[in-house]
Amino acid sequence: MDFKQFITIVEDYPKEGIRFKDITTLMQNGEAYKKAIDEMVQFASQKKADVIVGPEARGFVVGCPMSYALEAGFVPVRKPGKLPREVISQGYGLEYGKDELTLHRDSIHKGQRVVIADDLLATGGTIEATIKLVEQLGGEVVGIAFMIELGYLNGRERLKGYDVFSLMTYN
Ligand code: IMP
Repeated sequence: MDFKQFITIVEDYPKEGIRFKDITTLMQNGEAYKKAIDEMVQFASQKKADVIVGPEARGFVVGCPMSYALEAGFVPVRKPGKLPREVISQGYGLEYGKDELTLHRDSIHKGQRVVIADDLLATGGTIEATIKLVEQLGGEVVGIAFMIELGYLNGRERLKGYDVFSLMTYN
């Protein structure tokens, strides 16, 4: 399936010069959304994932259905102040801004096989911070799955040493 036909490119959002890839138009199409998730599930299944970790909010949109299909756990990574119990945290730089991510301290067990899932790989900052959080708890990051990769931002370079899967690449 040509998934790119379902992605809408929004010029100058959220600020001038950014060509935002909007996945909501893919999600609106039941068949495209299911087939996209199925391919990401296949990757995570090959990696024998015990748990899927997804950063808010679009990481939930891809990670939760993967988790359901795999009968694997799902662990949310969230912005500060959103998780109710004890967390570990990690600062990171974004394509447009700076922020911090948190993970429940008891959410990953030592040696668990983790696949990280998100909608889009831009500079790789979000996922780099997510990897640090998972590894700090002793999880093994066995793969990282994206719907979209922005090849021109070289995020893959930043994730060197990890198995990165993406459904679509924009160059
Ligand atoms: P990174 O940390 O620079 O790789 O940025 C990735 C994060 O920013 C992802 O969680 C995306 O949700 C978000 N993001 C950056 N650019 C876009 C875009 O063009 N479309 C949708 N999300 C984006």
